[in-house]
Amino acid sequence: MASLKPFKCPVCGAPLTPSQGQKFVKCDYCGSVIDVSTEKKREISWYYQPLGFENVLDKGIITLQEALTLLENLKISPQNPPDGIPEIIGFRDQAGTFIEFTRYSQFLYDIRYENVKNNEFLMGYDIPLYKAQQMLIDFFEGRELRWKNLLKSE
Ligand SMILES: [Zn+2]
Repeated sequence: MASLKPFKCPVCGAPLTPSQGQKFVKCDYCGSVIDVSTEKKREISWYYQPLGFENVLDKGIITLQEALTLLENLKISPQNPPDGIPEIIGFRDQAGTFIEFTRYSQFLYDIRYENVKNNEFLMGYDIPLYKAQQMLIDFFEGRELRWKNLLKSE
């Protein structure tokens, strides 16, 4: 690690104080695990599919902070969305691996994760926000998803 510049938890904004050489630090306030060693983050773009809308809209490069805000503000889709299409937000790396989210209740998210290179096509249902947030952080930082065991092969 080049410097010990102050870090903020991307989820809750609390200060993080990694010690010299530490790669991961756990936020004392919200429990998120953050990679503080990564100087250059992966380039992640996002896409959006509005409720009942046929097409996916590409929205361009996004930061982790912005992505976490989008996740928290994702609208709750009705149980029977028009044309069977809920509101979806997704995040994609340059290799085409993606993670996407839908929300059918205040506190629970559905998550789809696809990594074509590893032949992984996974789907998870009714996942609480804090776990969804951690998986989004892990995705941005190029780590194995922490709660991947909640996602099942399709
Ligand atoms: Zn935190």
